[in-house]
Amino acid sequence: MELSNAEAHLNGPLFRNAIQVVEEAAKIIDCDPNVLERLKRPRRSIIVSVPIRMDDYSVKVFQGFRVQYSATLGPFKGGVRYHQNVDLPEVVGLAALMTFKNSVLGLPLGGAKGGICVDPTKLSRTEKQNLTRRYTSEIAHFIGPTKDIPAPDVGTDPQTMAWMMDTYSQEQGGYSQPGVVTGKPIEIGGSLGRNHATGLGVVYVAEKAFEKKGMKMDGARIAIQGFGNVGSFAALFSYQRGAKIIAVSDVGGGIMNGDGLNIPELMDYIKTQKTVKGFPHSQNITNEELLELECDALFPCALEGQIDVHNAEKIKAKVIAEGANGPVTTAATKILHQRGIFIAPDVIANGGGVIVSYFEWVQDIMSFFWDEDEINKRLKGIITKAFEVGFKLHQEKNVDMRSAAMAVAVQRLEKAMLLRGLYPR
Ligand code: NAD
Repeated sequence: MELSNAEAHLNGPLFRNAIQVVEEAAKIIDCDPNVLERLKRPRRSIIVSVPIRMDDYSVKVFQGFRVQYSATLGPFKGGVRYHQNVDLPEVVGLAALMTFKNSVLGLPLGGAKGGICVDPTKLSRTEKQNLTRRYTSEIAHFIGPTKDIPAPDVGTDPQTMAWMMDTYSQEQGGYSQPGVVTGKPIEIGGSLGRNHATGLGVVYVAEKAFEKKGMKMDGARIAIQGFGNVGSFAALFSYQRGAKIIAVSDVGGGIMNGDGLNIPELMDYIKTQKTVKGFPHSQNITNEELLELECDALFPCALEGQIDVHNAEKIKAKVIAEGANGPVTTAATKILHQRGIFIAPDVIANGGGVIVSYFEWVQDIMSFFWDEDEINKRLKGIITKAFEVGFKLHQEKNVDMRSAAMAVAVQRLEKAMLLRGLYPR
């Protein structure tokens, strides 16, 4: 798209890639060109200065951002990232991706993202609290339970959300407003089930993909890259459903056992050892070897770009469920699609986290909290429905599942934008 100098923040690689994907999705559903033009720009991009008192009494000024990409389907929603590489082009890209993810999942939410350019590991607890409170205060006019609901992301956590919630509540007359952020500790309005939600969602989606391929979770041989929050719970829930987890890995490398690893014991093991390496009854493999193993399914749950044109021909799994964001590149997706390997794309497969964030917001607004079974049941309902809708378009239009999912996201936004019309006219 043509960009003026004033639109330099729309020129970041992440955002340009997102827009390219949107343009391709728009072709699949023959999207209204005026709608497409509007979809290619954020609604509002906020830049704030965040001055804070450091522990040595000096004052430092950090730069913070909140990009509110779209409120067509509901209040803006998206995480807040604290990282030294955060800049406006990156936040715009992440806000766009949130918009399309919330849309494909069928959530009544728009998309946003925020962040501060800071290395949080260099701040004391007090400095981090000062930073969070001042940032919240600077964006307070723009956020709120019916306006924009932030959440944790890289470099932020439930404690950060507790400070954001408290600052916002103090500035709104001192009344508690838990619905202003999600990802809070349970004691102040957080939701049960959030910790394992993304891993459980990966498993629900993989079960659906197996069903379509005439396969079953019970007895399936699965390899999982990454054994953090997403990978370990995806492993545990598959194991509990009778799957054989034949290999897992972390940043230090991988382990395998062709008869299946004992996942509950492995989860205990990493609590003390901090790595999967050295787990009894397993042999070492590299991360590269893990991806190329003979297996029924592969769950890449670590980093982006792990399967690209260099190894796409060597992948032997029949199904890939993307726990991580962007683990399979666009070019590799095309190769795998041609080879008949089914990819359940990240926007659906790792949607469990944002779905339970949505539940947290709903529960906060109702002031009525569900038990974990209720959360898991509702998560299954939403994520499998999103899968089915995407799968239908994938078959109807004969496109890969990733393109189909994006097309569903664009179509939902298109319908809502046409119904709402253009203000003032
Ligand atoms: P995490 O930090 O808990 O775990 C990451 C895992 O990946 C660790 O086991 C780590 O050792 C491993 N890893 C890191 N570098 C690696 C490498 N080079 N090779 C192999 N393994 C490596 O993170 P997480 O929360 O599990 O998130 C994993 C991915 O899922 C990220 O891409 C994240 O953006 C995405 N994601 C997470 C959530 C969530 O709710 N946690 C939601 C959606 C998407």
